[in-house]
Amino acid sequence: MALRVPPDTDAPPWLDAAALRAALPAAGESPPAGCAHCQSLACPGWESLPAPLGPPLLQALGTLCDPSDTEPTLTERHAPGTHFWHPRALVATRYFPYNRCSVWCCPPCGRGFVQYTEAGGYYVDHRIRAIDPALIVD
Ligand SMILES: [Zn+2]
Repeated sequence: MALRVPPDTDAPPWLDAAALRAALPAAGESPPAGCAHCQSLACPGWESLPAPLGPPLLQALGTLCDPSDTEPTLTERHAPGTHFWHPRALVATRYFPYNRCSVWCCPPCGRGFVQYTEAGGYYVDHRIRAIDPALIVD
């Protein structure tokens, strides 16, 4: 008898740019500084963390890792005048590092965040960035 592995229903849903936009308050609806619960997270650009953040501070919304993409690109996508660490860098969901990110939100105000872990040869760096919905692109 074949062993059947049940589908992993706990896996976070995959969000593309449109789904990510839909999962967050529309631009302008959420103050960029957040609420009393999340205001300590001032991270318009990427910030390093000692460890990934989760509940009760943040609630999981999903992932930007396309489950059908076995080799997510290392290519970055930037608007003119911005770069990886720029506070106005695009949140380009199909490009590095967003294609490796998990998506979170602040439960009271809905402000969105992305997190990923950069693993270099001699270090591991957990990073977080608040999502400005106006910067989300494919
Ligand atoms: Zn908040």
